[in-house]
Amino acid sequence: MTITAKAYAAQTASSPLAPYDIERRAPGPDDVHIQILFCGVCHSDLHTARNEWHNTIYPSVPGHEIVGRVVAVGSAVTRFKVGDLAGVGCMVDSCGHCPSCAEGEEQYCDNGFTGTYNGPVFGGENTFGGYSQSIVVKESFVLHIKHAEKDLAAVAPLLCAGITTYSPLRHWKVGPGMKVGIVGLGGLGHMGVKIAHALGAHVTLFTTSAGKVADGLRLGADEVCVSTDPAQMAARGGQLDFILNTVAAPHKLDDYLHLLKRDGTMTLVGAPENPHPSPQVFSLIFKRRQLAGSLIGGIRETQEMLDFCAEHGIVSDIETIRMDYINTAYERMLKSDVKYRFVIDMASLG
Ligand code: NAP
Ligand code: ZN
Repeated sequence: MTITAKAYAAQTASSPLAPYDIERRAPGPDDVHIQILFCGVCHSDLHTARNEWHNTIYPSVPGHEIVGRVVAVGSAVTRFKVGDLAGVGCMVDSCGHCPSCAEGEEQYCDNGFTGTYNGPVFGGENTFGGYSQSIVVKESFVLHIKHAEKDLAAVAPLLCAGITTYSPLRHWKVGPGMKVGIVGLGGLGHMGVKIAHALGAHVTLFTTSAGKVADGLRLGADEVCVSTDPAQMAARGGQLDFILNTVAAPHKLDDYLHLLKRDGTMTLVGAPENPHPSPQVFSLIFKRRQLAGSLIGGIRETQEMLDFCAEHGIVSDIETIRMDYINTAYERMLKSDVKYRFVIDMASLG
């Protein structure tokens, strides 16, 4: 028998999110049924609810920073039991046999992973995300939470913002002796600052918001550069080994490429609705610089990130909201007015 869950959904690209009941599948042998306690609000939720990536299936129930408690497990489940805390990130399934899946990089599944919301990209049923009371997920896509239970709300954003910054920082081997730039102090950016600092790098935060300088330093940046000030940008030319760019809007990439040393890399994780202006070839060829991209992270690496954060006492800086505040939260996110992640308390769903 399916499980009815209260949720919030967008019915069209222009309609606000509103209450909507969804059906979850009855847990099969491999499934974990989770009561959702908190769900973070990612900018990708907004891009999707408003069809900014032109692929949204409606009704759309966003939310992929999910933490909660296990309320039932299927007969073949071995790693979770009723009462455990559990997390679910951006994926709930993948093909399991392509080279990327075999290497634990399910986000690059050749056959397309199944998103926690907005479902199988190539047809099939839509999936509904974490803006809801409960979710049923295959055990192999459920994460263990080792943080203290009192921190649970602040752990939720690790499931997307945490892994999306941890994975490229590890892939490009960020550590002691490296000078790293983090661009944008939003949900992803503030996790990038904390994680890069914990990995031992020298961190420079680049922000368009002069009012965020003190926060940047408090969160772990060694330096903060207000990127709208050409003098502050020019003073840092050619100094950085690696830049993680989290900005959710189109902007001139050349301004940041010029900050890289020879052989430095800038990795884009921000996914704006409209493209960035193409960077100048000369920004790349003169110092053999590289421009790259990165998508979330695999399940094994997501568990590694959660354990790393638990060990280093890292959680997100959050503002907890009620479910019915979500439309206002989206407007505030567009104005960069969030410190630094909204997290929905699912108890407010009633
Ligand atoms: P967010 O909380 O809204 O943060 C984005 C930050 O970008 C803002 O706080 C702001 O920082 C900066 N910014 C915004 N507009 C800007 C503009 N016009 N010019 C320069 N800077 C601007 O968003 P988020 O949740 O961190 O997500 C960031 C982006 O990453 C989104 O596009 C999201 O869809 C994408 N994303 C990608 C992945 C992936 O796997 N690659 C995963 C999750 C999210 P300052 O005020 O400091 O300038
Ligand atoms: Zn996300």
